[in-house]
Amino acid sequence: MVQLSGITPSGHVQLGNHLGALRRWAADGGPDDLYFVSDLHAMTTAHNPAKLRSLATEQLAVLVATGIAPERVFVQSDLARELGALTWVLECTCSYGEAARMIQFKEKSAARSASVEGGGGGMDGKSKGQAGVRLSLLTYPVLMAADILLQGADEVPVGEDQRQHVELARTLARRFNSTYGEVFTVPEATLPPAGARVKDLAEPARKMSKSANDSAGVVFVLDEPDQIRRKVRRARTDGGSVPAYDPENRPGIANLLDILAACAGGDPAELADEYPSYGVLKDAVADAVIEELRPVREGTRALLDDVAELERVRKAGAERAIDRGAHRVSAALRMVGAA
Ligand code: ATP
Ligand code: MG
Repeated sequence: MVQLSGITPSGHVQLGNHLGALRRWAADGGPDDLYFVSDLHAMTTAHNPAKLRSLATEQLAVLVATGIAPERVFVQSDLARELGALTWVLECTCSYGEAARMIQFKEKSAARSASVEGGGGGMDGKSKGQAGVRLSLLTYPVLMAADILLQGADEVPVGEDQRQHVELARTLARRFNSTYGEVFTVPEATLPPAGARVKDLAEPARKMSKSANDSAGVVFVLDEPDQIRRKVRRARTDGGSVPAYDPENRPGIANLLDILAACAGGDPAELADEYPSYGVLKDAVADAVIEELRPVREGTRALLDDVAELERVRKAGAERAIDRGAHRVSAALRMVGAA
């Protein structure tokens, strides 16, 4: 049973990624599971090449420092040749309509359209904006299908927002297999175990995100202890002064209690009773987060300083991932008549 999960270097790894994904990957991952840094997916909107490169390296180091076996990790772009070939074959298996109906494409291209100035040239704002987005915003689910099918993954644990893309991978695998011959494992989208969604400390209405424009309320796993303490102390609370666990009406305090429970154990509602004031609670949250992230931060820094070791891990991961998938690319090319 192979499960495949990825993380996109769209920003520095944040506490929500750690608690909701990476920590779990390290603790629960099966011996055949695979984890990758999906740097090619961070190029569907304007991006900075140097920044992308350094974020991808950093994320690889974070994955290993979190405790994921180095044999199980790789960086997507190290497989660019295999993935490029497979993506093309799969684009020739996918219809335009199937790609265009992806909700993520509709939402992201619409968001982009909204930011483009009004009409002109016979195009209204919307179609003009859509015409201006990178073609890869439309086609990246096919690259995602290639990520999954190349590795022969059986299961892809994804949140609701990525479910449709795994369904597309499933459709394409089936269609290819029945049209040209059996090459691909048909993957299944599974729901990752439910965990608390970490909210932004400054804006508890939205989830913490590594690509947020404003990072005042985002705790990054590589933040120094005093930065973490500062961000936690400034966390928005919701009036009142005595902690109570009420996610609906007091999302800021509930978020702090959820974070404390996730880092130090315990039940968030019961923890609320242990702290007489917001200040005392915030100090406890800061301490717990600092201790939770300390080994990850120290391990990541050590790996980033040991360039040769990180390079060795990266190269070995790439070789393994290519070995696992190369025969599928060759078979698929042969079957479509391209080799
Ligand atoms: P982006 O802003 O680029 O979408 P992100 O921080 O939302 O970045 P993703 O790459 O979308 O991170 O997700 C990586 C993993 O981290 C996923 O498994 C996702 O469910 C998990 N994750 C992301 N944010 C949170 C959060 N705030 N709380 C819990 N889990 C999270
Ligand atoms: Mg996200």
